[in-house]
Amino acid sequence: MKLSNRLQLILDHIPSGSRLADIGSDHALLPTAAVETGTCVSAIAGEVNSGPYQAAVKQVTESGLTHAVMVRLGDGLDVLETGEVDVITISGMGGGLIASILDRGENKLSGVSRLVLQPNVGEDILRKWLLEHHWVLINEYILVEDGKIYEVLIAVPEEQGLEIKNEELYQERIMGEGTKISTDWLLRMGPWLLQRPSSVFHAKWKSEIQKMNSILRSLSKSDLASAEEKSANIRADIKKIEEVLACLPKDKQ
Ligand code: SAM
Repeated sequence: MKLSNRLQLILDHIPSGSRLADIGSDHALLPTAAVETGTCVSAIAGEVNSGPYQAAVKQVTESGLTHAVMVRLGDGLDVLETGEVDVITISGMGGGLIASILDRGENKLSGVSRLVLQPNVGEDILRKWLLEHHWVLINEYILVEDGKIYEVLIAVPEEQGLEIKNEELYQERIMGEGTKISTDWLLRMGPWLLQRPSSVFHAKWKSEIQKMNSILRSLSKSDLASAEEKSANIRADIKKIEEVLACLPKDKQ
């Protein structure tokens, strides 16, 4: 089975021999590939909706993997028993939804040694959740596929983070020739992505600036008193993003 580059990147960050749970698995492509390739000894595909659940059951049955991949219907981490898996993957949803799934199922995270998360939007919400819940972001990636940009975040429990400390990762710092980057901006842009800024990273933030400029154009037509304050905040954000991009090396990837 050929996975998309996005799902393959997630699979590449699951340690060999893991017991996996893929939450919001849809067609169960990732857990099926994880077991088929020998990366995982077993996998659970969790789905809250019956259509994707049925698609997952079909995929696992047709792959002949029902002995190793279990498909379970339920909300978020409800489908898991504590201690049942080592790695949890959640991909293809908003960062806010992923954070709420982790939050609601936090008791199921004890014994989990790695989270591999791929938010479609709201990456900052997810980084903040990880930071506030003692998970260390050990790496992150950005990739483009079919014209869409995706980020993949990899986190381990704080006690397992070894050399990487959350306080250092998100500590306000000066970049380039005096551009201050606050904890909030590190959460928004990604501490590792900022250290290795690829062309995709530059493209993402240029596109964010375009979206913000379009909001500014709409706001300029509004008579609401709040419009000016909103515009000022957006202009400040654009200025900060431009400053940060200007002080980063240009990656030719
Ligand atoms: N993970 C796959 C991927 O990355 O290609 C599928 C992503 S699909 C866009 C999102 C899936 O998450 C849907 O199948 C949806 O039913 C499921 N989902 C949404 N909220 C969920 C929840 N709280 N618990 C389990 N699954 C959920």
